[in-house]
Amino acid sequence: MKAIRRFHVRTVLPEPLAPLGTLASNLRWSWHSRTRDLFRDIDRRQWEAVSHDPVALLASLSAHELDALSRDEAFVARVREAAEGLQRYLEAPQWFQSWTEQAHGPAAIAYFSAEFGITSVLPQYSGGLGILAGDHLKSASDLGVPIVGIGLFYKTGYFSQSLSGDGWQQETYPVLDPDNLPLSLVREADGTPALVSLRLPEGRVLRAHIWKAQVGRVPLLLLDSDVDGNDDAARDLTNRLYGGGGDHRLQQEMLLGIGGVRALRIWSRLTDAPEPEVYHCNEGHAGLLGLERISELVTQRGLTFDEALEAVRAGTVFTTHTPVPAGIDRFGVDQVRRFLGGDCGLPGVPVESVLPLGAEDYDGGAAGVFNMAVMGLRLAQRANGVSQLHGKVSRGMFDGLWPGFDDDEVPITSITNGVHAPTWMDPRVVELAQRYVGGENVRHADGWDHVASIPSEEIWHLKRQLRAQLVEDVRGRVHDAWVARGASEAELGWTQEILDPDVLTIGFARRVPTYKRLTLMLRDPARLRRLLLDPDRPVQLVIAGKAHPADDTGKKLIQQMVQFADDPKIRHRIVFLPNYDIAMAQQLYPGCDVWLNNPLRPFEACGTSGMKAALNGGLNLSILDGWWDEWFDGQNGWAIPTADQSSSAAGAVMDEDRRDDLESAALYDLIESHVRALFYDRDAEGLPQRWMSMVSHTLGTLGPKVLATRMVRDYVTQLYAPAALASRARSADSYAQARELASYEHSARSAFGEIRVDHVDSEGVRDTPQVGDRIRVKADVWLGSLSADAVQVQVVYGRASESDELSEVQSAPLTHVEAYDGSRHRFEGEVVLSRTGAFGYTVRVLPRHEGLASAAELGLVVNA
Ligand SMILES: *Cc1c(COP(=O)(O)O)cnc(C)c1O
Repeated sequence: MKAIRRFHVRTVLPEPLAPLGTLASNLRWSWHSRTRDLFRDIDRRQWEAVSHDPVALLASLSAHELDALSRDEAFVARVREAAEGLQRYLEAPQWFQSWTEQAHGPAAIAYFSAEFGITSVLPQYSGGLGILAGDHLKSASDLGVPIVGIGLFYKTGYFSQSLSGDGWQQETYPVLDPDNLPLSLVREADGTPALVSLRLPEGRVLRAHIWKAQVGRVPLLLLDSDVDGNDDAARDLTNRLYGGGGDHRLQQEMLLGIGGVRALRIWSRLTDAPEPEVYHCNEGHAGLLGLERISELVTQRGLTFDEALEAVRAGTVFTTHTPVPAGIDRFGVDQVRRFLGGDCGLPGVPVESVLPLGAEDYDGGAAGVFNMAVMGLRLAQRANGVSQLHGKVSRGMFDGLWPGFDDDEVPITSITNGVHAPTWMDPRVVELAQRYVGGENVRHADGWDHVASIPSEEIWHLKRQLRAQLVEDVRGRVHDAWVARGASEAELGWTQEILDPDVLTIGFARRVPTYKRLTLMLRDPARLRRLLLDPDRPVQLVIAGKAHPADDTGKKLIQQMVQFADDPKIRHRIVFLPNYDIAMAQQLYPGCDVWLNNPLRPFEACGTSGMKAALNGGLNLSILDGWWDEWFDGQNGWAIPTADQSSSAAGAVMDEDRRDDLESAALYDLIESHVRALFYDRDAEGLPQRWMSMVSHTLGTLGPKVLATRMVRDYVTQLYAPAALASRARSADSYAQARELASYEHSARSAFGEIRVDHVDSEGVRDTPQVGDRIRVKADVWLGSLSADAVQVQVVYGRASESDELSEVQSAPLTHVEAYDGSRHRFEGEVVLSRTGAFGYTVRVLPRHEGLASAAELGLVVNA
């Protein structure tokens, strides 16, 4: 029989236990081990059975059990104390509160992301991007930053991974019931669910409810299209994360971006929360949020599209996360026309004005394509990559949007990712660190230098416990994996003897796109076997990762790995664990001695798993890519030499096979002669002193850098605060600056076509110039319809190559001296020769307006 209606009956907690409800619904428990301990202590077996899920635990308790618990005075006292602790956490002024008093930071920030990885209980992530978003919110909460997260609620999350008998990835999609999750439905004052709706083609309407997850102080709003009134296709829209392509993906992104802004407005109306001044678009998926905000300004404030665009750009921050072109969302122009034009166009946002925003109208771009990252960059005045190297790579990758400028000037900066220490450090590591670093400091980057004073035998002893804990966990997982692969209990005795808590343990876990090269270590299988089976100094490997369901190449790599590890002769030293998720990761990082990462440089934008390993006393063994390129210092781990183009002879393009050969050989060499040599080099007490000094050094120096609190502070001070100021300046006096800037941009765009640098002269250049000489540069410039104060004229100088290419470029302004013949102007200025060697200079004309954040912003320049 099928029910015609379904209710969810929530547990009623007896009054003394009522605060448990609050403690379970605020996800702070996911990084607060004392709160988790409280739930665990209710019933340890049940806690394991519900996979450490407080809401599920409470739901599983009978009225009788609850009654008994409510009479346990000691327990009730702990509940009260925990609830008070949470309340203090939510209210106490933090870093942001003292900082903003002087800095007048943003009243609120909206953080949009297609995925959020907060806890394995709420599986709304596929990998690093989502984990980063979760860590961003958690750290913002710790710092008191007034942020609100916006995402989608995927009913089956990403997917759950298991293996077939022959090692092929199997996907299942267990359905999540939001009523059994730490979520609450956002409701109107009259109790009806708040509703967001969007128009779709053919008169269809897409409706969504809003679930709220509370992440410490930070609300996270998740839109869910599985609501009454939607047709079946609309109901299924938020079924899966990255589940569909094409139209499905575009509609998900419309719901996230456009619907997300509408959800925010509802949220502010219902809770009196301040409207965000800054909108942070975490990767391109949410980029359409800018269009909805333009529509608001056009319809509610009477701005034109271009004026509204200027206003919106000022308050928008865009973060790009991938240097892999295939990783960027691109739609067809026809698709965009269909979904954002005609009847379903946003009021005031003609689709003809939308299309140029995502057009790849630059060298190497494709026609007929709408690129979400390109739109993201055009809709945001501030943009960044996620490590220094990735910033540089992104400036090169998107330089077509700023023609005429050197890559260095492309206005994409970088903020290196970080990780949320309380989530990722094993509670015992935190406890040890706190004993020496003191109090709450660990999560705020203070006191890490005291780590050096932790006796190495204490760390070593703890690392052994963590390794043993991982070995236990792995045995259970491998056993269960084999049951799922069809093995019978009787054949599985061996799983209880695999791995060894005293053997050097190397971890490798991440998504399985090709560039991450899961199977690089299998390049020379015999050599790997020798490493694993070495009688005196063996190595053991713990491996995990999911391939995207549509990625058969990735699934083949997994199968290769699984089949290798299935070999009875080595299966006690190498394991592939199915279903990599946050819960597994939290066991894995602390238990590993070495964290391996061997991507194809420079495709790893940042990488964060190695940071989490480092915070747990692990050493990194990695290609110099992403964060490791920035922070490897020779003593905190090992760099696998890269055979990429930049380091091979004269930029010759090396074929990938050859590159894999070279890089894998280097990897084996490093493990054989350095990593294991150091690990097994023991003193009279059995301690690997040199190893431990690398661990202490890593904790002390990397510890404070890799924190997400450092990252969030960087975002606040370098991007959010300037964006809030710019946004205020734009909107003051009824958007006077937005109007003025739009009109300036309009005239600059037409005038720059006719501007010319007619003549450049220099005085003071001797036959043999010397350092310290001054040269006077004079330029005659034709400015057409622009006035002299609407441009800046610069002399740009630096080292000149044989072919007159400038490098190490600097610039100095030239001042306006006179106007003559109508549009002709003379500009002059001085350059001091500060370096020996070949010197060159040129003159260029750039736009000038107080609303511009950088000289390159408009992509307009005339070079002499
Ligand atoms: C940290 C983390 C990632 C990201 O790892 P990368 O090194 O950035 O690839 C992916 N999945 C989970 C579960 C993680 O915890």
